[in-house]
Amino acid sequence: MRDSAIRKIIEEETRRQDDGIELIASENYPSRSVREAQGSILTAKYAEGYPGRRYYGGCEYVDEAESIAIERARELFRVPYANVQPHSGSQANFACFHALLKGRGRAKILALELNDGGHLTHGSPVSFSSDLYDVSFYPLGEDGRLDYPVIEKRLGETKPDLLLAGYSAYPYEISFSTLREIVDRHNERFGTSVRFMVDMAHIAGIVAAGLCENPCLYADAVTSTTHKTLRGPRGGLILSRDMELGKAISSAVFPYSQGGPLEHVIAGKAVAFGEALHPAFREYMEKVLRNTALAAEEFRRLGVRSSGTETHLFLLDVLSSYGITGREAQTRLESIGITTNKNMIHGDRMRPKDASGIRLGFAAATSRGASEEDAVRIARLIHGFLKGDVDEGKTREEVLSIVRAWRNIEDLEYPTTAC
Ligand code: PLP
Repeated sequence: MRDSAIRKIIEEETRRQDDGIELIASENYPSRSVREAQGSILTAKYAEGYPGRRYYGGCEYVDEAESIAIERARELFRVPYANVQPHSGSQANFACFHALLKGRGRAKILALELNDGGHLTHGSPVSFSSDLYDVSFYPLGEDGRLDYPVIEKRLGETKPDLLLAGYSAYPYEISFSTLREIVDRHNERFGTSVRFMVDMAHIAGIVAAGLCENPCLYADAVTSTTHKTLRGPRGGLILSRDMELGKAISSAVFPYSQGGPLEHVIAGKAVAFGEALHPAFREYMEKVLRNTALAAEEFRRLGVRSSGTETHLFLLDVLSSYGITGREAQTRLESIGITTNKNMIHGDRMRPKDASGIRLGFAAATSRGASEEDAVRIARLIHGFLKGDVDEGKTREEVLSIVRAWRNIEDLEYPTTAC
């Protein structure tokens, strides 16, 4: 790297990541192989179109890379159609909404609100989604879980064109088969053709590992990111079991909403899918779920108000537990090298920029080697620090002693089916 300014920033960021405990539930560490693909000369290639149908010459090798990524995605998620070109999860959602709702005029979407755990692109006032579509929301039940009869009732009341499931801060399992039944029953009863879409960005790794229901078997189309639990490069993905719909998705991605695909990132996705297809990935994901559950249990044992968890994440109510906002907790934890994010919790009365909670996840820490003992120790450490029992210096030292036993992020490699 000849640019000294950027080189220095990369070095500092590498040190920050190596010396810290990453608990942001949407982050993870891709392997060195994924990063090598991303940093390769494939970035120099223009390849508008799809493998075998490009608008430029010289695409024979990127065609191969993209075809491998598509094949592996299809195998991993057991679908006939995969589009690996979306630049991000938001782009994937933009294109997928378009493909599913084209020709319906100003279409209506029924989703979960951002404050309840949904995503910006699921109808937030600051997102394209609320500009282009009329979005209504279904509430969570008293216990913070999806209430399927209420979703069915809301479907009848709002008569949307699309039911959207899959979330950013929802710690429980989702019954995609139940949602499919609800949509089918509704369509039969009212003679409608409501589509069912799942955004599995957060749980894609859990799905790939076969540790929860596979939404691809039930939804008309499924979007995802590739960089969260799936542990690939930063990017998006769209899958469908319907090849006809696949055609509409292809044109909604290119040329409707994107130009040249990022073939270097697509090669990184192919590498990550090869890793996720290896049996070791399931073991990794089992550890993530176990570590997350143990940490959440420890917080509860210590008397902290925490959500339950059946995924890679849970939510802590820091306002009622420690008398500080989520924003304050995030800042304080950052001072000792623990990275989290403030998050609205169920029934939150704070403004989103403050929030009453924080969201914690163990996908990234487990990739570096966090053990079950580490997960419990981290929960105790956060509790002691936020309660004010242990000072900043001591806690920072303990964080460093934990991460020094883990692998450095630069060296991470994972088993792959593609050796
Ligand atoms: N969908 C969900 C459920 C997410 O949690 C996120 C990211 O946080 C996205 C979509 C958007 O992904 P990206 O940041 O790649 O646009």
